[in-house]
Amino acid sequence: MHEKKHRKAPEGASLTKQIAARIQEQGPITVAEYMETAAAHYYATRTPFGEEGDFTTSPEISQMFGEMIGAWLVDIWLQMGQPENVQLIELGPGRGTLMADIMRTISSWPAFKSSVSIHMIENSPQLRQAQATTLKNYRPTWYDRLDEVPAGLNFIVANEFFDALPIHQFKKVKGEWKERAVDYDEVENTFRFTTVPLDFDVASIMPEGFLKAPDGCIFEVSPSSLSVLDQISARISENGGAALIVDYGHSETGLGDTLQSVAAHNYSDALENPGTKDITAHVDFATFKTVASQRVRVHGPVTQGEFLKSLGIEQRGESLAANATDEQRRDIIHALQRLTATAEMGSLFKVMGLTPHSSDVRPAGFNESEEGDEISDDTP
Ligand code: SAH
Repeated sequence: MHEKKHRKAPEGASLTKQIAARIQEQGPITVAEYMETAAAHYYATRTPFGEEGDFTTSPEISQMFGEMIGAWLVDIWLQMGQPENVQLIELGPGRGTLMADIMRTISSWPAFKSSVSIHMIENSPQLRQAQATTLKNYRPTWYDRLDEVPAGLNFIVANEFFDALPIHQFKKVKGEWKERAVDYDEVENTFRFTTVPLDFDVASIMPEGFLKAPDGCIFEVSPSSLSVLDQISARISENGGAALIVDYGHSETGLGDTLQSVAAHNYSDALENPGTKDITAHVDFATFKTVASQRVRVHGPVTQGEFLKSLGIEQRGESLAANATDEQRRDIIHALQRLTATAEMGSLFKVMGLTPHSSDVRPAGFNESEEGDEISDDTP
Protein backbone atom coordinates (compact mmCIF):
# COMPACT_ATOMS: atom_id res chain seq x y z
CA MET A 1 0.00 0.00 0.00
CA HIS A 2 2.63 2.49 1.14
CA GLU A 3 4.93 1.49 -1.63
CA LYS A 4 2.13 2.09 -4.13
CA LYS A 5 1.59 5.59 -2.77
CA HIS A 6 5.27 6.41 -3.14
CA ARG A 7 5.22 5.30 -6.72
CA LYS A 8 2.19 7.46 -7.45
CA ALA A 9 3.67 10.74 -6.35
CA PRO A 10 6.38 11.33 -8.95
CA GLU A 11 4.10 10.37 -11.88
CA GLY A 12 1.42 12.76 -10.71
CA ALA A 13 3.98 15.41 -9.93
CA SER A 14 5.35 15.42 -13.46
CA LEU A 15 1.95 15.89 -15.08
CA THR A 16 1.02 18.51 -12.47
CA LYS A 17 4.18 20.43 -13.41
CA GLN A 18 3.41 20.12 -17.09
CA ILE A 19 -0.16 21.39 -16.77
CA ALA A 20 0.89 24.13 -14.33
CA ALA A 21 3.52 25.32 -16.82
CA ARG A 22 0.93 25.40 -19.60
CA ILE A 23 -1.40 27.49 -17.43
CA GLN A 24 1.41 29.87 -16.45
CA GLU A 25 2.14 30.40 -20.12
CA GLN A 26 -1.36 30.62 -21.60
CA GLY A 27 -3.70 31.30 -18.67
CA PRO A 28 -6.43 28.98 -17.37
CA ILE A 29 -7.21 25.93 -19.53
CA THR A 30 -10.72 24.65 -20.20
CA VAL A 31 -12.08 21.76 -18.15
CA ALA A 32 -12.03 19.79 -21.43
CA GLU A 33 -8.32 20.37 -21.97
CA TYR A 34 -7.56 19.49 -18.36
CA MET A 35 -9.66 16.33 -18.53
CA GLU A 36 -8.21 15.20 -21.84
CA THR A 37 -4.63 15.64 -20.63
CA ALA A 38 -5.29 13.92 -17.30
CA ALA A 39 -7.20 10.98 -18.86
CA ALA A 40 -4.60 10.35 -21.58
CA HIS A 41 -1.84 10.21 -18.98
CA TYR A 42 -3.92 8.03 -16.68
CA TYR A 43 -4.77 5.36 -19.26
CA ALA A 44 -1.25 5.36 -20.66
CA THR A 45 0.49 4.86 -17.34
CA ARG A 46 -1.79 3.01 -14.94
CA THR A 47 -3.73 -0.19 -14.46
CA PRO A 48 -7.20 1.18 -13.92
CA PHE A 49 -9.34 -1.94 -13.52
CA GLY A 50 -10.22 -4.47 -10.86
CA GLU A 51 -9.64 -4.84 -7.14
CA GLU A 52 -6.05 -3.64 -7.39
CA GLY A 53 -6.90 -0.71 -9.60
CA ASP A 54 -9.23 2.25 -9.28
CA PHE A 55 -12.60 1.06 -10.57
CA THR A 56 -14.39 -2.04 -11.82
CA THR A 57 -16.36 -2.12 -15.05
CA SER A 58 -19.24 -4.46 -15.92
CA PRO A 59 -17.19 -6.93 -18.01
CA GLU A 60 -14.68 -7.13 -15.15
CA ILE A 61 -17.49 -7.93 -12.69
CA SER A 62 -18.77 -10.97 -14.56
CA GLN A 63 -18.50 -12.90 -17.82
CA MET A 64 -22.31 -12.73 -17.96
CA PHE A 65 -22.17 -9.09 -19.10
CA GLY A 66 -20.15 -9.91 -22.23
CA GLU A 67 -22.23 -13.02 -22.84
CA MET A 68 -25.40 -10.93 -22.98
CA ILE A 69 -23.78 -8.52 -25.43
CA GLY A 70 -22.52 -11.47 -27.48
CA ALA A 71 -26.07 -12.85 -27.56
CA TRP A 72 -27.38 -9.42 -28.57
CA LEU A 73 -24.97 -9.41 -31.53
CA VAL A 74 -25.83 -13.00 -32.53
CA ASP A 75 -29.53 -12.09 -32.58
CA ILE A 76 -28.87 -9.14 -34.89
CA TRP A 77 -26.61 -11.21 -37.14
CA LEU A 78 -29.37 -13.86 -37.46
CA GLN A 79 -32.03 -11.21 -38.12
CA MET A 80 -29.79 -9.77 -40.85
CA GLY A 81 -29.64 -13.14 -42.60
CA GLN A 82 -26.15 -14.20 -41.43
CA PRO A 83 -24.02 -11.71 -43.38
CA GLU A 84 -20.35 -12.39 -44.10
CA ASN A 85 -17.45 -10.03 -43.36
CA VAL A 86 -18.68 -8.43 -40.18
CA GLN A 87 -16.35 -5.86 -38.64
CA LEU A 88 -16.66 -6.19 -34.88
CA ILE A 89 -15.44 -2.83 -33.57
CA GLU A 90 -14.92 -1.98 -29.92
CA LEU A 91 -14.20 1.51 -28.63
CA GLY A 92 -12.08 1.68 -25.46
CA PRO A 93 -11.72 -2.08 -24.86
CA GLY A 94 -9.92 -1.81 -21.50
CA ARG A 95 -8.34 -5.18 -20.74
CA GLY A 96 -10.10 -6.89 -23.65
CA THR A 97 -12.40 -8.83 -21.32
CA LEU A 98 -15.65 -7.81 -22.99
CA MET A 99 -14.35 -8.75 -26.44
CA ALA A 100 -13.10 -12.13 -25.16
CA ASP A 101 -16.53 -12.88 -23.63
CA ILE A 102 -18.28 -11.79 -26.83
CA MET A 103 -16.02 -14.01 -28.96
CA ARG A 104 -16.51 -17.01 -26.66
CA THR A 105 -20.29 -16.53 -26.88
CA ILE A 106 -20.45 -16.18 -30.65
CA SER A 107 -18.23 -19.25 -31.05
CA SER A 108 -21.43 -21.27 -30.69
CA TRP A 109 -22.34 -19.88 -34.13
CA PRO A 110 -19.23 -20.91 -36.12
CA ALA A 111 -20.40 -19.15 -39.29
CA PHE A 112 -20.68 -15.90 -37.35
CA LYS A 113 -17.36 -16.38 -35.62
CA SER A 114 -15.54 -17.04 -38.88
CA SER A 115 -17.14 -14.04 -40.57
CA VAL A 116 -15.90 -11.63 -37.89
CA SER A 117 -12.79 -9.46 -37.90
CA ILE A 118 -11.92 -7.62 -34.67
CA HIS A 119 -11.10 -3.90 -34.64
CA MET A 120 -10.07 -2.19 -31.42
CA ILE A 121 -10.04 1.58 -30.93
CA GLU A 122 -7.53 2.10 -28.15
CA ASN A 123 -4.96 4.84 -27.72
CA SER A 124 -3.16 3.51 -24.65
CA PRO A 125 -0.13 1.38 -25.62
CA GLN A 126 -0.26 -0.31 -22.24
CA LEU A 127 -3.91 -1.33 -22.59
CA ARG A 128 -3.25 -2.51 -26.18
CA GLN A 129 -0.71 -4.90 -24.67
CA ALA A 130 -3.23 -6.16 -22.13
CA GLN A 131 -5.82 -6.62 -24.88
CA ALA A 132 -3.35 -8.54 -27.04
CA THR A 133 -2.75 -10.95 -24.16
CA THR A 134 -6.44 -11.46 -23.43
CA LEU A 135 -7.24 -11.94 -27.11
CA LYS A 136 -4.22 -14.04 -28.06
CA ASN A 137 -6.48 -16.61 -29.76
CA TYR A 138 -7.82 -13.99 -32.17
CA ARG A 139 -6.23 -11.47 -34.46
CA PRO A 140 -7.43 -8.00 -33.55
CA THR A 141 -6.27 -4.86 -35.34
CA TRP A 142 -5.70 -1.68 -33.32
CA TYR A 143 -6.45 1.91 -34.25
CA ASP A 144 -6.21 5.25 -32.47
CA ARG A 145 -9.44 6.51 -33.98
CA LEU A 146 -12.65 5.09 -35.40
CA ASP A 147 -12.23 6.84 -38.75
CA GLU A 148 -9.11 4.71 -39.39
CA VAL A 149 -11.18 1.50 -39.52
CA PRO A 150 -11.90 0.56 -43.15
CA ALA A 151 -15.48 0.89 -44.38
CA GLY A 152 -17.51 -2.29 -43.93
CA LEU A 153 -20.47 -3.84 -42.17
CA ASN A 154 -20.20 -2.60 -38.59
CA PHE A 155 -21.05 -4.25 -35.30
CA ILE A 156 -19.88 -1.63 -32.82
CA VAL A 157 -19.75 -1.83 -29.02
CA ALA A 158 -18.61 0.74 -26.47
CA ASN A 159 -18.79 0.16 -22.73
CA GLU A 160 -17.64 3.00 -20.50
CA PHE A 161 -15.83 4.65 -23.38
CA PHE A 162 -17.72 7.92 -23.72
CA ASP A 163 -17.51 8.81 -20.02
CA ALA A 164 -13.74 9.13 -20.45
CA LEU A 165 -13.97 11.70 -23.25
CA PRO A 166 -13.51 15.38 -22.36
CA ILE A 167 -16.43 17.68 -21.51
CA HIS A 168 -16.67 21.44 -21.60
CA GLN A 169 -18.40 23.02 -18.62
CA PHE A 170 -20.23 26.35 -18.60
CA LYS A 171 -21.11 28.20 -15.41
CA LYS A 172 -23.52 31.05 -14.73
CA VAL A 173 -21.64 33.79 -12.92
CA LYS A 174 -23.30 37.13 -12.08
CA GLY A 175 -26.00 36.58 -14.66
CA GLU A 176 -23.64 35.54 -17.46
CA TRP A 177 -22.67 32.15 -18.83
CA LYS A 178 -18.89 31.62 -18.81
CA GLU A 179 -16.68 28.66 -19.59
CA ARG A 180 -15.41 26.83 -16.53
CA ALA A 181 -11.64 26.52 -16.59
CA VAL A 182 -8.76 25.29 -14.46
CA ASP A 183 -6.21 27.70 -13.02
CA TYR A 184 -3.06 27.04 -11.00
CA ASP A 185 -2.47 28.63 -7.63
CA GLU A 186 1.28 29.14 -7.40
CA VAL A 187 1.24 29.93 -3.70
CA GLU A 188 -0.71 26.86 -2.63
CA ASN A 189 0.61 24.73 -5.51
CA THR A 190 -2.89 23.53 -6.31
CA PHE A 191 -5.27 23.64 -9.24
CA ARG A 192 -8.54 25.46 -8.79
CA PHE A 193 -11.62 26.15 -10.87
CA THR A 194 -12.20 29.54 -12.40
CA THR A 195 -14.24 30.85 -15.31
CA VAL A 196 -13.26 32.55 -18.55
CA PRO A 197 -15.41 34.65 -20.91
CA LEU A 198 -17.08 32.98 -23.90
CA ASP A 199 -16.23 34.03 -27.42
CA PHE A 200 -19.39 32.54 -28.93
CA ASP A 201 -23.12 32.70 -28.31
CA VAL A 202 -23.99 30.22 -25.57
CA ALA A 203 -27.49 29.82 -27.04
CA SER A 204 -25.90 27.88 -29.89
CA ILE A 205 -25.00 25.01 -27.58
CA MET A 206 -27.60 25.14 -24.80
CA PRO A 207 -31.30 24.28 -24.66
CA GLU A 208 -33.25 27.53 -24.44
CA GLY A 209 -34.76 26.59 -21.07
CA PHE A 210 -31.34 26.68 -19.42
CA LEU A 211 -30.27 30.13 -20.62
CA LYS A 212 -31.96 31.84 -17.65
CA ALA A 213 -30.67 29.39 -15.01
CA PRO A 214 -29.57 31.03 -11.74
CA ASP A 215 -25.98 31.85 -10.78
CA GLY A 216 -23.85 28.85 -9.90
CA CYS A 217 -25.53 26.47 -12.37
CA ILE A 218 -23.30 24.34 -14.56
CA PHE A 219 -24.04 23.06 -18.04
CA GLU A 220 -21.91 20.41 -19.77
CA VAL A 221 -21.32 19.40 -23.38
CA SER A 222 -18.91 16.91 -24.86
CA PRO A 223 -18.11 17.79 -28.47
CA SER A 224 -15.55 14.93 -28.58
CA SER A 225 -18.24 12.42 -27.63
CA LEU A 226 -20.77 13.83 -30.07
CA SER A 227 -18.22 13.73 -32.86
CA VAL A 228 -17.43 10.04 -32.23
CA LEU A 229 -21.15 9.29 -31.92
CA ASP A 230 -21.74 11.01 -35.25
CA GLN A 231 -18.99 8.91 -36.84
CA ILE A 232 -20.58 5.74 -35.46
CA SER A 233 -23.98 6.82 -36.77
CA ALA A 234 -22.53 7.65 -40.19
CA ARG A 235 -20.89 4.22 -40.44
CA ILE A 236 -24.11 2.46 -39.48
CA SER A 237 -26.22 4.44 -41.90
CA GLU A 238 -23.75 4.07 -44.78
CA ASN A 239 -22.55 0.47 -44.38
CA GLY A 240 -25.19 -1.09 -42.13
CA GLY A 241 -24.94 -3.08 -38.93
CA ALA A 242 -25.64 -1.98 -35.38
CA ALA A 243 -24.05 -0.21 -32.44
CA LEU A 244 -24.47 -0.70 -28.72
CA ILE A 245 -23.43 2.05 -26.33
CA VAL A 246 -23.35 1.39 -22.59
CA ASP A 247 -22.33 4.05 -20.12
CA TYR A 248 -23.37 5.84 -17.02
CA GLY A 249 -25.33 9.01 -17.45
CA HIS A 250 -28.73 10.58 -17.71
CA SER A 251 -31.66 10.13 -20.10
CA GLU A 252 -32.61 13.80 -19.94
CA THR A 253 -30.33 16.76 -20.46
CA GLY A 254 -29.87 18.60 -17.18
CA LEU A 255 -27.81 21.17 -15.35
CA GLY A 256 -25.15 20.09 -12.89
CA ASP A 257 -21.51 19.23 -12.43
CA THR A 258 -20.84 15.56 -13.19
CA LEU A 259 -17.06 15.71 -13.49
CA GLN A 260 -15.73 13.07 -11.17
CA SER A 261 -12.59 11.32 -10.21
CA VAL A 262 -12.13 7.89 -8.69
CA ALA A 263 -9.02 6.37 -7.17
CA ALA A 264 -8.80 3.00 -5.43
CA HIS A 265 -12.62 2.68 -5.62
CA ASN A 266 -13.25 5.97 -3.79
CA TYR A 267 -14.33 9.39 -5.02
CA SER A 268 -11.41 11.75 -5.14
CA ASP A 269 -10.68 15.40 -5.98
CA ALA A 270 -10.44 15.77 -9.77
CA LEU A 271 -8.02 18.69 -9.42
CA GLU A 272 -5.55 16.85 -7.23
CA ASN A 273 -2.73 14.84 -8.83
CA PRO A 274 -4.11 14.76 -12.38
CA GLY A 275 -3.18 11.64 -14.35
CA THR A 276 -2.99 9.38 -11.31
CA LYS A 277 -6.70 8.59 -11.18
CA ASP A 278 -9.72 8.05 -13.33
CA ILE A 279 -11.48 11.23 -14.49
CA THR A 280 -14.90 10.97 -16.12
CA ALA A 281 -18.25 12.69 -16.64
CA HIS A 282 -21.82 11.54 -17.16
CA VAL A 283 -22.97 10.79 -20.68
CA ASP A 284 -25.93 12.91 -21.80
CA PHE A 285 -28.03 10.25 -23.53
CA ALA A 286 -30.77 12.73 -24.46
CA THR A 287 -28.33 14.71 -26.59
CA PHE A 288 -26.87 11.42 -27.90
CA LYS A 289 -30.34 10.44 -29.04
CA THR A 290 -30.96 13.77 -30.76
CA VAL A 291 -27.60 13.69 -32.55
CA ALA A 292 -27.71 10.01 -33.60
CA SER A 293 -31.36 10.23 -34.73
CA GLN A 294 -30.27 12.51 -37.56
CA ARG A 295 -28.65 9.52 -39.25
CA VAL A 296 -29.90 6.28 -37.68
CA ARG A 297 -32.72 4.65 -35.74
CA VAL A 298 -32.09 4.97 -32.01
CA HIS A 299 -33.24 2.31 -29.53
CA GLY A 300 -33.45 3.29 -25.88
CA PRO A 301 -31.83 4.49 -23.77
CA VAL A 302 -33.00 1.89 -21.29
CA THR A 303 -31.35 1.16 -17.97
CA GLN A 304 -28.62 -1.46 -17.87
CA GLY A 305 -30.76 -3.46 -15.42
CA GLU A 306 -33.72 -3.58 -17.81
CA PHE A 307 -31.52 -4.36 -20.78
CA LEU A 308 -29.60 -7.24 -19.17
CA LYS A 309 -32.71 -8.77 -17.60
CA SER A 310 -34.58 -8.57 -20.88
CA LEU A 311 -31.70 -10.45 -22.53
CA GLY A 312 -31.95 -13.17 -19.87
CA ILE A 313 -29.02 -12.49 -17.56
CA GLU A 314 -30.94 -13.94 -14.59
CA GLN A 315 -31.56 -17.21 -16.41
CA ARG A 316 -27.89 -17.28 -17.42
CA GLY A 317 -26.97 -16.75 -13.77
CA GLU A 318 -29.20 -19.64 -12.73
CA SER A 319 -27.70 -22.00 -15.26
CA LEU A 320 -24.15 -21.06 -14.23
CA ALA A 321 -25.11 -21.46 -10.56
CA ALA A 322 -26.53 -24.92 -11.17
CA ASN A 323 -23.03 -26.28 -11.77
CA ALA A 324 -21.18 -24.08 -9.30
CA THR A 325 -19.70 -24.45 -5.83
CA ASP A 326 -21.35 -22.55 -2.96
CA GLU A 327 -18.75 -19.84 -3.17
CA GLN A 328 -19.14 -19.47 -6.93
CA ARG A 329 -22.91 -19.34 -6.50
CA ARG A 330 -22.54 -16.48 -4.04
CA ASP A 331 -20.27 -14.68 -6.53
CA ILE A 332 -22.81 -15.11 -9.31
CA ILE A 333 -25.65 -13.72 -7.19
CA HIS A 334 -23.44 -10.83 -6.10
CA ALA A 335 -22.45 -10.08 -9.71
CA LEU A 336 -26.08 -10.12 -10.87
CA GLN A 337 -26.87 -7.71 -8.09
CA ARG A 338 -24.05 -5.33 -9.03
CA LEU A 339 -24.89 -5.36 -12.72
CA THR A 340 -28.66 -5.01 -12.49
CA ALA A 341 -29.78 -3.59 -9.11
CA THR A 342 -31.07 -0.03 -9.08
CA ALA A 343 -28.79 0.94 -6.21
CA GLU A 344 -25.74 -0.37 -8.08
CA MET A 345 -25.07 -0.22 -11.83
CA GLY A 346 -28.57 -1.25 -12.93
CA SER A 347 -30.10 2.17 -13.09
CA LEU A 348 -27.39 4.82 -13.47
CA PHE A 349 -25.96 2.91 -16.43
CA LYS A 350 -27.91 3.23 -19.66
CA VAL A 351 -27.90 1.29 -22.90
CA MET A 352 -28.58 2.71 -26.34
CA GLY A 353 -28.75 0.82 -29.64
CA LEU A 354 -28.33 2.18 -33.17
CA THR A 355 -29.48 0.55 -36.42
CA PRO A 356 -29.91 1.93 -39.93
CA HIS A 357 -33.20 3.67 -40.77
CA SER A 358 -33.40 1.38 -43.77
CA SER A 359 -33.23 -1.85 -41.75
CA ASP A 360 -36.10 -3.63 -40.03
CA VAL A 361 -33.82 -5.38 -37.57
CA ARG A 362 -35.30 -5.20 -34.05
CA PRO A 363 -32.45 -5.28 -31.57
CA ALA A 364 -33.23 -7.20 -28.38
CA GLY A 365 -33.36 -5.62 -24.95
CA PHE A 366 -35.19 -2.37 -25.63
CA ASN A 367 -38.79 -3.50 -24.99
CA GLU A 368 -40.01 -1.78 -28.11
CA SER A 369 -43.55 -2.15 -29.39
CA GLU A 370 -44.14 -3.85 -32.74
CA GLU A 371 -44.23 -0.44 -34.42
CA GLY A 372 -40.73 0.27 -33.17
CA ASP A 373 -39.46 3.27 -31.32
CA GLU A 374 -41.48 5.98 -33.04
CA ILE A 375 -43.82 6.29 -30.07
CA SER A 376 -40.95 6.85 -27.68
CA ASP A 377 -40.86 9.44 -24.96
CA ASP A 378 -37.89 11.52 -26.09
CA THR A 379 -37.68 15.09 -27.38
CA PRO A 380 -36.61 16.94 -24.28
N1 SAH B 1 -14.59 -0.89 -22.02
C1 SAH B 1 -13.67 -1.26 -20.98
C2 SAH B 1 -12.79 -0.11 -20.49
C3 SAH B 1 -13.42 1.20 -20.10
S1 SAH B 1 -12.22 2.41 -19.60
C4 SAH B 1 -14.39 -1.93 -19.84
O1 SAH B 1 -15.61 -1.84 -19.82
O2 SAH B 1 -13.75 -2.52 -18.99
C5 SAH B 1 -12.02 3.42 -21.03
C6 SAH B 1 -11.25 2.80 -22.17
O3 SAH B 1 -11.24 3.74 -23.25
C7 SAH B 1 -9.79 2.47 -21.90
O4 SAH B 1 -9.48 1.33 -22.64
C8 SAH B 1 -9.08 3.72 -22.44
O5 SAH B 1 -7.73 3.53 -22.70
C9 SAH B 1 -9.89 4.00 -23.67
N2 SAH B 1 -9.86 5.38 -24.13
C10 SAH B 1 -10.10 6.48 -23.39
N3 SAH B 1 -10.05 7.59 -24.15
C11 SAH B 1 -9.79 7.17 -25.41
C12 SAH B 1 -9.63 7.83 -26.66
N4 SAH B 1 -9.74 9.16 -26.76
N5 SAH B 1 -9.38 7.08 -27.75
C13 SAH B 1 -9.28 5.74 -27.66
N6 SAH B 1 -9.43 5.06 -26.51
C14 SAH B 1 -9.66 5.76 -25.40
